[in-house]
Amino acid sequence: EGTSEKYEFQAEVNRLMDIVINSLYKNKEIFLRELISNASDALDKIRFKSIEDKDALAGEKNLEVRISFDRESRTVTIADTGVGMTKTELIENLGTVAKSGTTNFMEQLGGESSTSGDDLSMIGQFGVGFYSIYLVSDRVTVASKSNDDPDQHVWTSMADGSFVVGKDPRGNTLGRGTEITMYLKDDASEFLDDYKLESMVKKYSEFITFPIYLRKTVAETVLAEEEEEYEDGDEEDDLDDLDEGEEDDEEEEVVGDKYKVGDVEVPVGEGGYDPDEDSPHDPSIKKEVFKFEWVRANDNVAIWSREKEEVTDDEYKEFYTNLSKDGTTSENWIHFKAEGEVEFKGIMYIPDEAPHDMWDRYYDKEAKIRLYVRKVLISDEFDDLVPQYLNFIRGVIDSDDLPLNVNRESLQQSKILKVMGKKIVRKALEMLRKMATQDKDFEEDEEDKDEKGEVKKAPYIRFWEQFGKSMKLGVIEDSSNRSKLIKLLRYRTSTTGEDSWRSLEDYVADMKEWQQHIYYIAGADIETVSKSAFCEKLHKKGLEILYLVDPIDEYAMQQITEFDGKRLMSVTKEGLKFGDEDEDLVAGREKAYNKKFQPLTRFLKQTYDKNVNKVVVSQRVEDSPVVIVTGQWGNSANMERIMRAQAF
Ligand code: ADP
Ligand code: MG
Repeated sequence: EGTSEKYEFQAEVNRLMDIVINSLYKNKEIFLRELISNASDALDKIRFKSIEDKDALAGEKNLEVRISFDRESRTVTIADTGVGMTKTELIENLGTVAKSGTTNFMEQLGGESSTSGDDLSMIGQFGVGFYSIYLVSDRVTVASKSNDDPDQHVWTSMADGSFVVGKDPRGNTLGRGTEITMYLKDDASEFLDDYKLESMVKKYSEFITFPIYLRKTVAETVLAEEEEEYEDGDEEDDLDDLDEGEEDDEEEEVVGDKYKVGDVEVPVGEGGYDPDEDSPHDPSIKKEVFKFEWVRANDNVAIWSREKEEVTDDEYKEFYTNLSKDGTTSENWIHFKAEGEVEFKGIMYIPDEAPHDMWDRYYDKEAKIRLYVRKVLISDEFDDLVPQYLNFIRGVIDSDDLPLNVNRESLQQSKILKVMGKKIVRKALEMLRKMATQDKDFEEDEEDKDEKGEVKKAPYIRFWEQFGKSMKLGVIEDSSNRSKLIKLLRYRTSTTGEDSWRSLEDYVADMKEWQQHIYYIAGADIETVSKSAFCEKLHKKGLEILYLVDPIDEYAMQQITEFDGKRLMSVTKEGLKFGDEDEDLVAGREKAYNKKFQPLTRFLKQTYDKNVNKVVVSQRVEDSPVVIVTGQWGNSANMERIMRAQAF
């Protein structure tokens, strides 16, 4: 009984806590986001366990979060009925951290000495979100009950380099889950307030799929005769939207004996309340009663289950922020229902900006799509759900068709997942096509600037400049969607220069009447290719040339032999035709020239010997005396250059 043991924090944790507790960081309220996020993770875990183990929920049936505060003891408490922690887990999870996490986080903060204006809001991304609690408090107790430990334990720390863990003297007060009590610092009194807490909870829990209740003080005006009734805590109004499918009376019972709250009565006029405001001129009103009530703070319907028409743009954007957790934004999403073989709902987002290291980690990064089965989070990382070239997509999908008891491994191999993956790809490409279509009507608005203060470009072009490389990889990798992807490619051309982008459709639409092919040149940069001798004749004839200046362009081009019935022709390869020539005339002229210059071509061939395949008289240059071309089926010079450099 009552034996508590003292432990030292790992050195990294200590340093981290020091920084956080002494920080003058203004946006302290993020602690609540981190705690809600941890609670939600813990709830996800127990719900997932309960799929295979029927008894997992026996200790506590409800899956929920409850947040309350107490002015007298200056505490804020957040309790969840999640998976909980055993004694060992309390010690390990709250006393040690992955070294890399803290180191990276502190590097991000710009060294250990800086404690003020730096952005601590990223803390959660480094796996140390729990410690954000020390932004607002200097003493914390965590009581936790896990199915794997017969006893409830309490963890306490005063942020003095050590923490204490022992059996909870109160006994097993929690059926299962974790209850965190924060003793607020002097400068954190703002959180002892209904409205402040409510707005924070709303902000950070809107898209948590578990109900989050906030214990609020509510004022009720009551008739003198009815006053008695209120003393029983008649509070089902706000509780009947708990998880669907459960019996109403059951909920009340659980709530009733677990969260009994003493009501407080305050006579009329106190607490700044004016009874006339709410119920004017009713002579029978006698009293105003202040009570505590659990009020659900977040929506009870998952955003993806709602009808598109009912979800506002702001809600979609906020949901993205919640999902990505990396500070990026998204203005492009698709909310869909897939029907047929497998039915599922989902929302998919394209981030506005590509992570700057996206290509460094290309091969180990998967699309972050959370998979739910009937609102149960099954996984947020699947290999192979969507092909790698779409790894920038973020989203959620929820299916009623998958059996809940699938484990991650078997699901990974299941055919259903393949079908879902295919549909997701199709939806993603559909969204991109839509964006590309919108570009046609897009007009730049001088007022509409992006984060960097530059006038916003058309939606698809903005996407293209961030993720164009992914589309090119798609053309190479995804043969089944190749024709769709090809339409999504954009190029600099001899008509646009550096200023804008052209699609193959644009190109074809503006072709000369007599033009039969689509021409391209590949090279290191626009400057070089535009001045290339190979282009002289085409410039003269006013033929548009695609400039392939990204190393991967030419690889992708190998997969595109024709578009809209037009062959794609490299201007550096032999046999180049323009289509405006009179065939007979050209042939005659060629013959004559060949004969005339035979001594020269022979001499050159002898001189260069094995270094060239052949030497011919050509009509393709205007001002330059000679060009070196590659055979129709050989690698272009640019490709050779790239292959030598292994540029990607
Ligand atoms: P992260 O959430 O990224 O793992 P945190 O610092 O937020 O990092 O939390 C550390 C760990 O503490 C979690 O991984 C989890 O194991 C444990 N933990 C925190 N809060 C809870 C909770 N409410 N219920 C169960 N375990 C929790
Ligand atoms: Mg966390």
